[in-house]
Amino acid sequence: MAGCIFCRIVSGDVPARSLHEDEHAVAFLDAFPLAEGHILVVPRAHVGRLEELGDAQARAVFAAVHKLTGRVQKATGAPATTIAVNNGREAGQEVPHVHVHIVPRWPGDGAGPIHALGWSRPKLSAERMDQIAKSIRALP
Ligand code: 5GP
Ligand code: ZN
Repeated sequence: MAGCIFCRIVSGDVPARSLHEDEHAVAFLDAFPLAEGHILVVPRAHVGRLEELGDAQARAVFAAVHKLTGRVQKATGAPATTIAVNNGREAGQEVPHVHVHIVPRWPGDGAGPIHALGWSRPKLSAERMDQIAKSIRALP
């Protein structure tokens, strides 16, 4: 899509430190890394949100995540990684082209787990939990 920074990287108009390319997915270093070795994995096609990916696109994106996670840990010496998708504007997604973040983590880096994003855990009844599970299962 015109004006999309990740489409421009995929097409080669904007340079990036490429790490992986296949028919459906591309991966490169984040230009403004949260940590050394911060990677973004994107579908080649301009798709805004994770649930809008086709099966082959989703498989390729997550296969690339799987391939690169161990490699970036080896390359940087990081003992761990946080893998995250800001899926939608309300979740903090800034670039409206699906991307999975792989962020290397070190002891004492101060970033905390995803649980530390600021939620206060809602008190949900067992009935509400059952209802939510049932309504997800009922969808095709
Ligand atoms: P979001 O906030 O949408 O989940 O993440 C967007 C990510 O894209 C950010 O981590 C940001 O650093 C990265 N980013 C923004 N512009 C560029 C760019 O021109 N090149 C690369 N490689 N990464 C970018
Ligand atoms: Zn795009």
